This record gives sequence, C-alpha cells and structure tokens, in this order.
Amino acid sequence: MTTFSELGLSECIVRAVSEHGYTTPTPIQQQAIPAVIKGGDLLAGAQTGTGKTAGFTLPILERLSKGANAPKNKTDRRPIRALVLTPTRELAAQVEESVSTYGKHTNLNSGVIFGGVGINPQIKLLKNGVDILVATPGRLLDHKQQGTIDLSHIEILVLDEADRMLDMGFIHDIKKVLAVLPAKRQNLLFSATFSDEIKTLADRLLNNPAMIEVARRNSTVEVIAQKVHPVDRDKKHPLLAHLIKTHSWNQVLVFTRTKHGANKLVEQLINDGINSMAIHGNKSQSARTKALAEFKDGSLTVLVATDIAARGIDIDQLPHVVNFDLPNVPEDYVHRIGRTGRAGATGEAVSLVCVDEFKLLADIEKLIKRQLPQEIIDGFIPDPHAKAQPIQLRSFQGQGQGRGNSGGGAGGGNRSGNRPSRPAQAAPREGNPARSPVKATVKQSTPRRSGGRGSA
Ligand code: AMP
Repeated sequence: MTTFSELGLSECIVRAVSEHGYTTPTPIQQQAIPAVIKGGDLLAGAQTGTGKTAGFTLPILERLSKGANAPKNKTDRRPIRALVLTPTRELAAQVEESVSTYGKHTNLNSGVIFGGVGINPQIKLLKNGVDILVATPGRLLDHKQQGTIDLSHIEILVLDEADRMLDMGFIHDIKKVLAVLPAKRQNLLFSATFSDEIKTLADRLLNNPAMIEVARRNSTVEVIAQKVHPVDRDKKHPLLAHLIKTHSWNQVLVFTRTKHGANKLVEQLINDGINSMAIHGNKSQSARTKALAEFKDGSLTVLVATDIAARGIDIDQLPHVVNFDLPNVPEDYVHRIGRTGRAGATGEAVSLVCVDEFKLLADIEKLIKRQLPQEIIDGFIPDPHAKAQPIQLRSFQGQGQGRGNSGGGAGGGNRSGNRPSRPAQAAPREGNPARSPVKATVKQSTPRRSGGRGSA
C-alpha cells in the first residue's frame, strides 16, 4: 500500500497528515500528489468527498516549502505564491483550514478571503502577507480593484470545483483574475464534471496537463443507503419530523429547493421541538458560520440548506441527508448525498418525493443508473389521485449570489443572478409516472427510542 512519504512529501508534511489521522492516501491523492510535485499543470476529475483538497494542498505545501523562495520562518512578510479559488465561502474556509492543518510543521502560512464579511481584517492579512491564499472570486477582485492585493508573485493557481464556479456565473471573474496573474505559473483545475465550458476553460488555462479522473461520485455512492419515501406535498414536514423522532436522528442535513422553503421548514421543526437552523444565501455570514459550527459539533440536530449554500459543507461521518425537495438538476442529487458516506463512511440519504417530483426522480435515476428503493411510511400513504403542480424553482429568486451578505455561499458575485444553463421550470408529470410511488411497499417505521436529542 502506498504511503504519503512514498508520494514524495517531506517528513514535516507527512507528520501533520498522520497527526490528523490519515494513514493511507486516497486514489486522487495517490495520483495528484506526485503530479503536482513535478510542477506541471493538472486537470483532475474529482468530486468532493474523494480527498481532493489534500490532493492539491499537500503537494503545494511541498513545493512552496522547498527551493530558493522557501520562507525561513512563519512570520516575515512575503508575497502570495499560491492562489486557490473556490466557488463558496464555506469551501474557501474549509480549504484554508486544511492548508493550515497540513502546513502546521512548515514555515508556510495561509489566509482566506471571501465576501459577506468586513474587508478591513482581510486588508490587514494581505498586508502582512501569506504564502497560500484561498479566495472566492468576487472578493478577490474587490481587493484587486482597491489595490490591496498583489498577485504578481503567484506560482501556483488552483481552480477548485471549477464546474460549480462556472455554474454560479463566475467565468468573467475568473477571466479577470487570470489576466492579472503572472504568465509563468502552474495551474491545477479540479472539476466534478466536464461540460464544454469546462473543456474550453481547461484548453485556455492548462499547458500539457497531467490528467486524472477518479471514480465519479455516482459510481462510488454505493456506501450510501438511498431511499425514497413517496408522500403527499403537504405531508412532507410531518413525515420528516416523524422520521427524525422515531429514529432518534441527531445530525440531519436537509435540503430544500428554496430559501423560503428552508426558513419555513425550520420554523415548523422548531415548533415540533426539533432544534433546527437554516443556511442559505440570505443569511448573514455570521449566522451561517454559527449554524455550521453548531451542526458540526453536534449541538444542532437539523441543518436545512439550499444547494449552493451547502457546497463545501464537509462533515466527517454525517449520518443522514434528507432531500425534503428533490433538486431540479439531477447532478445536484449526487452532490447532496455526497455529504454523507464521505471517505468511506457509511451514510443514509432519504428523499421525500411528492407527485410533482416524479419527473425529477426519473431524471436522477437515469443519471445514477439505478432505481431507488421506495418505501411508504405507515400513516403517510400518498393520495393516488393527487395531481401534479408546477414546481416553483429558485431561478427567479436566485440563490442570492450577489456580493455582500446576500452571497449564495459565494464571496463574490454572479452578476446575472441566474443559472442560465439550467431549465427554467421542471415539467411535472400528472398521474401515471414512470414509477408510481403507490406500488412501493408499505412498511411500518419502527420507533427505536422516543425523543432523541432534539425531540420534544
Ligand atoms: P474532500 O474531497 O477534500 O472534500 O475530502 C473528503 C473527506 O475525506 C474529508 O472529510 C477529508 O477530511 C477526508 N480525507 C481526505 N483525505 C483522506 C485520507 N487520506 N484518509 C482518510 N480521509 C481523508
């Protein structure tokens, strides 16, 4: 079995990794680490959950801690030598945490900048200088415009979750950043999917890149037990409360389609005595950070999130993900359920599906190439005559990706506000769906223990 030191990492980096509890490199790490240490460009197809963050942070730390420019101590002022761009604030914060964890025995230091929070502490940070900067594109450009950042010494650029950055409308921001970076640099592009847009960006950005593709999430999700509970539209909330209480779930990430839906559900769950908070683009950064911290440390039972806000939520051993609404875009289902079962842990993902969502369910099943088992919960049998209604999509409300506090997880802005490549409205199917949920077996959900944490 390959070890981290066999991949070419120095003792001080390997020590930090093993202190963090990792003994064996994941497949993406086995391939990416030597390739990045060599110094060439890299195109990596890897989703979150594969260990991709360490896949690029470890070799970057290795490269920057060696050679003539290597810092002699942690504190001297120094120029930014590596820049990591991420689509969301949460992901930026997490990547920087990884850099700082894995780099703790090196002389390298790191910092993070994103929108939605005060700019002055960031100006101070940049003035003091960091070796590795993690940023969301909008706030980075704000600093550039204000003349508070010097990007002229960048040796390594990483575009993390590039597909999501394009999806969120950051292409213009990315181009502006590329235009001010030194021409001679190493470029690393990580993306879960390869649309034509990503290929165009890769062609423009990368020079003779090493190419790596690790198993797609939708082929590695086998460790995640997936299930559909067919239910009437207006019974979703009582069903969710029932599942949480009867199974004593104590750490549940719930996805809703809209910010309004997230707020409403939180109110309802709190009324049921279930400790819940929402995380979405209309929440202030401090509210989002608080919700995430409490959810991570186990003091919050339910975190209700919209898709973009949830990007970058990385919780080891997250046991339950619930799709309160199915996502409009099948790929988002894979991203959502990828929050559980990470790095080999087992997890459970359940979807509450009403008549409006049969077409969305069929699209998801087509993408993941399997039918999801359905189970009707006793007491929540859906009305077989229910008519589908059009689904209210988020597009026109947007996910609030503008700058400042409305940022939908991003520190910068999607100037257009919408996600143009996505359909404006999902066509609901009436009656007779591809698979009728009423065919599913009715099973009593067995109460295990009454009132787990968060139950009334
Ligand atoms: P990422 O794909 O970078 O978001 O990482 C997914 C999860 O895998 C995170 O929770 C990491 O802490 C964890 N992880 C990363 N590398 C390893 C490793 N070599 N062994 C075990 N877990 C890891």
